[in-house]
Amino acid sequence: MKTRAALFHAVGEPLEVAEIDLEEPRADEVLVRMVAVGICGTDLHQVKGEFQRPTPMVLGHEGAGVVEAVGDAVTRVRPGDEVVLSWAPSCGECAGCRRGRPATCRVLNAAIPNGTLPDGTTRMTWRGETVYRGTATGCLTERIVVSEQVALPLGEGVPLDQAALLGCAVLTGVGAVLSAARVAAGSSVLVIGAGGVGQFVVQGARIAGATTIVVSDPVEARLDAARRAGATHLATPDELRDVIRAEFPDGTDYGFDAVGDPATTATALRFTRDGGTTVIVGLPAQGLRLDLDPFELIRKEKLLTGTLYGSQDPALALPAMLEHVRLGRLDLASSLGPSFSLDDVNEAVDASLAGEAGRVLVLP
Ligand SMILES: [Zn+2]
Ligand SMILES: [Zn+2]
Repeated sequence: MKTRAALFHAVGEPLEVAEIDLEEPRADEVLVRMVAVGICGTDLHQVKGEFQRPTPMVLGHEGAGVVEAVGDAVTRVRPGDEVVLSWAPSCGECAGCRRGRPATCRVLNAAIPNGTLPDGTTRMTWRGETVYRGTATGCLTERIVVSEQVALPLGEGVPLDQAALLGCAVLTGVGAVLSAARVAAGSSVLVIGAGGVGQFVVQGARIAGATTIVVSDPVEARLDAARRAGATHLATPDELRDVIRAEFPDGTDYGFDAVGDPATTATALRFTRDGGTTVIVGLPAQGLRLDLDPFELIRKEKLLTGTLYGSQDPALALPAMLEHVRLGRLDLASSLGPSFSLDDVNEAVDASLAGEAGRVLVLP
């Protein structure tokens, strides 16, 4: 079948919206009409050349849509169901999966850099040439074929534009706090970076009952959004040291780096109190290395760790997030930024690169 998709060819070239060929769903797969797709920092890494992955590639891995067709063996969704795409279909069989660490799935973590689905195929071609999938998904397209496992039922009551955010930013940001770090009520939390994921780290900290949430970001509009999300203290990167010294001279119990740059990781670690936990949530550009003082980990007994996609099985995490939404604890609408049509996908990428306060959406 034919569909229209945004193809990434090379750094410095605009994405090309083109008609591509998409294989019909297999027995355990579903065809989804994409309704809303968020532009994530991972997509921007690719656009900026900070990840080396095969091309042409359909970017986009944070999306929601409507099931149009299902394979014979599909049982969990039916045509007409609204779904959120997960980009992390763990295999369930490898050692990482069996240890209960789906984010470490060997099959998934081979597929993502290879630009394929977990089975090694992409099921999409353009002029006879393989089209690769961004983050094992590739949902900047009108229609997508994915495994039943990644088309998670949305249920009632959440508009699809808001639901798209659940697919990456929410599961990553809120999951980092609730599932990965397991922040305790009454904790103090520092969040570096108030972009899409950072805003949801803030909300996760609020949901966890953190009494102090310090947020640092260079963009004023993002700090304003962080305040609405639950931040108690705001600082630009230049102001952060003074804020921490004045208010939390021992540092905060947790430091989350929602940017993923070595410099922001070092800052998060530095301002985490002795014996506290620093968590890297944002993805760094490929090949970067940390330069850290080991005494932060030895004499100060800080724990430095990282989390991918909230370190939980998305099929378990999504219903929990939807419950937070229904109870009014998790607000999706306030994190929405401007939206663009698929034909205007390059404007969407530019808006996201410019640091829009809300998540930039493409509505295919
Ligand atoms: Zn993402
Ligand atoms: Zn696995």
